[in-house]
Amino acid sequence: MKRKRRRIKKQFLILIIIIIILLGALVLFRNKGSEKEYSEIAREIIKKEKIQEVYKEDYSQTLDEVLKNDAFNIAYLDEYLNITFNNDSEFITKINKYLEIGYKAQDINNIFKLSSKNQTKMLTLPKQTDFAKYIGIKNFNILNLERYKAYLQKEQKDLQTTVTYVNINLDKPFYTDSEEINPGNDLTIIVNKYHHVSKDYVPSDMKVLFDSTNNAKLIGVAADAYKLFIEAAKKDGITLQSTTAYRSYSFQNTLYTNYVAEDGKEKADTYSARPGSSEHQLGLAVDLNDPNYSAARLSDKDYEWVLNNSYKYGFILRYTKDNEPITGYMEEPWHIRYLGIDLATKVHDSGLTYEEYYDLYIMEY
Ligand SMILES: [Zn+2]
Repeated sequence: MKRKRRRIKKQFLILIIIIIILLGALVLFRNKGSEKEYSEIAREIIKKEKIQEVYKEDYSQTLDEVLKNDAFNIAYLDEYLNITFNNDSEFITKINKYLEIGYKAQDINNIFKLSSKNQTKMLTLPKQTDFAKYIGIKNFNILNLERYKAYLQKEQKDLQTTVTYVNINLDKPFYTDSEEINPGNDLTIIVNKYHHVSKDYVPSDMKVLFDSTNNAKLIGVAADAYKLFIEAAKKDGITLQSTTAYRSYSFQNTLYTNYVAEDGKEKADTYSARPGSSEHQLGLAVDLNDPNYSAARLSDKDYEWVLNNSYKYGFILRYTKDNEPITGYMEEPWHIRYLGIDLATKVHDSGLTYEEYYDLYIMEY
């Protein structure tokens, strides 16, 4: 009897110990969960302002920073508690501005997932809606959001294609809102049916092509690269020569006007650039010809060689059959554009039009 009672006592003791250990673990665990505490300044304000909500929520570094930096607005308390803190140097200023615009915590968390350029633009724009699905889409530009929405509805393409095509301006008819650019010394510059140079633009330091009989010129580095390109072709048994290279605005104007007179504007636009919109005015494009082949400018064999080798010398084919819907030009197998070996190789390997490549990898939004 006595022995049995002692055993019960012992079991009871073990039970008590287990309970104590469990309680201890629970306390430890809870402390770990709220490891971070509000800074002293923040705690004072919390007490003084009687911000009761704080005790119901986990520690919020955002609220802590807002309080510490004297940027607290009681109206936004719930939002502060739900905005994820990040190390943006303008974090506090930005979130208060976004809150003023009318964004909620979730929107703001999404805004911080966009590029920093977009974040800055959104500080000055009215409240934007339905932008979250574009998070992670390369070169999403908040300024084009409404155009993306319209294009998406009309064309039903995937989000990345939608963003790239709208950035390129393909949602607008060709030659709509063409922007004037100044190439300066930039060899990567793009002119097309949405970008043109002024009628006064003439590239500097052009050089007559080594094989030219009609004073065809390119910018120096392109002219040098062209010589290597033609010599390499020759080694492979391909004979190529230049026909035209640089064209002035006024010469392009004469060409285009004559084509329009012959074929009408709509048709002329499919094969001739309007003055200012031609790569030939950049001094970076040259048209080729095979003097031994009379049926067309180039034979299939010539074209094959150009297609597979031009990038090695810094040139790309701008107007292929596949590129037609994007460039808006009928195929021009004879037209090559200088970009330098590095960029030409990347564009060639990407399989993209230069329009797409430029938007995806050269532009930043
Ligand atoms: Zn050309």
